[in-house]
Amino acid sequence: MSVFSHPEFAQHEQLNFFCDEKSGLKAIVAVHNTNRGPALGGCRMWNYRSDEEALRDVLRLSKGMTYKSALANIDLGGGKSVIIGDPRQHKGDALLEAMGRCLESMGDRYIAAEDSGTSVADLKVMSRHTNNVAGITERIGIDGKPCNGDPSPATAYGTFVGLQAAVKHKLGQQDLRGLRVAIQGIGNVGFRLAQHLAAAGAELFVTDIHQEQVARAVSELGAIEVGAEQILSLDVDVLAPCALGAVLNDDSIPNIKAKVIAGAANNQLAAPEHDAMLRQHGILYAPDYAINAGGIIDIFYERIGHDHLKVLAHIESITDTLDEIFRRADQQDRPTGEVANELAEERFMAPETVNA
Ligand code: NAD
Repeated sequence: MSVFSHPEFAQHEQLNFFCDEKSGLKAIVAVHNTNRGPALGGCRMWNYRSDEEALRDVLRLSKGMTYKSALANIDLGGGKSVIIGDPRQHKGDALLEAMGRCLESMGDRYIAAEDSGTSVADLKVMSRHTNNVAGITERIGIDGKPCNGDPSPATAYGTFVGLQAAVKHKLGQQDLRGLRVAIQGIGNVGFRLAQHLAAAGAELFVTDIHQEQVARAVSELGAIEVGAEQILSLDVDVLAPCALGAVLNDDSIPNIKAKVIAGAANNQLAAPEHDAMLRQHGILYAPDYAINAGGIIDIFYERIGHDHLKVLAHIESITDTLDEIFRRADQQDRPTGEVANELAEERFMAPETVNA
């Protein structure tokens, strides 16, 4: 298994391989870049088919966190950890405590948050041995309600203000009344986004594989239910992917009628070239990791001291970042995802290495 010459290595600063025979823990922690601060990223537990697959995942996700935090202008670097194993079978206090000790051994280089296969409760077990976990403190959420560390309300609010910025840029419309928005996935983030949009007077079209989520959006928000196959090609103003990755691809893009794509799902582009394809089709794409940064901003303030107004203002600054991306993309006739990557690099790389 190659490491330094791995195709996803991307100049990672540090890679740690941990093994604890007693608890069965096998984990990899990747620290991509700490120029802006300690690396923060989720701790994923997954039944990887091979060590190679786990390594690829952790490297790719860790680099993504550097870009996300830098673009959000927060003083954190990028990192990620993966625990190799089936969370339903292999997860227990002994394994999580061993993971906590591993995190502690890294000093303050990496801070873990919840991810697929881990929960706030799991991170609390890890925290018996380390302070290097985030997103576990009870506090007042950005909606003014008590919150157990779930970043979804912050992510949804950031996505809402980002969607507003994209609509203003592309459609010249500040008021969202009557705007037609299709939401794919009406889960933790999607439902809250729908609540903001409904309050602003938008007309909502929703789909989800779980019928009860859809029923709730229909009854509480007056949303219109749409079949899973129709959602991407619906005749609407905005498409908000809030479920899966890779939904913007060769098959979907030619059929998308929305002029704006602004949603919270991670990794919406199936491949880098779909960024340019969206631009060619006259669609404004709000890069996913720019618009869905509300959650990481919220977690950042949990670490430095929660201040409700500062968190809100910081989340609202997502609109400034998007405005800058859209402006550069227009001026230079380049796809927005490519411009977002460039802007993130300007924010985390030492000045002399940008564009080197
Ligand atoms: P979630 O699991 O609560 O909601 C996702 C919803 O999508 C679920 O209701 C699920 O049933 C639905 N879904 C799955 N496959 C579908 C399909 N094929 N068609 C229609 N609906 C489908 O997750 P979430 O926390 O709301 O996150 C949504 C997306 O946003 C994910 O891609 C996530 O990675 C990303 N994201 C979330 C946060 C956060 O703070 N929760 C932060 C950044 C990014």
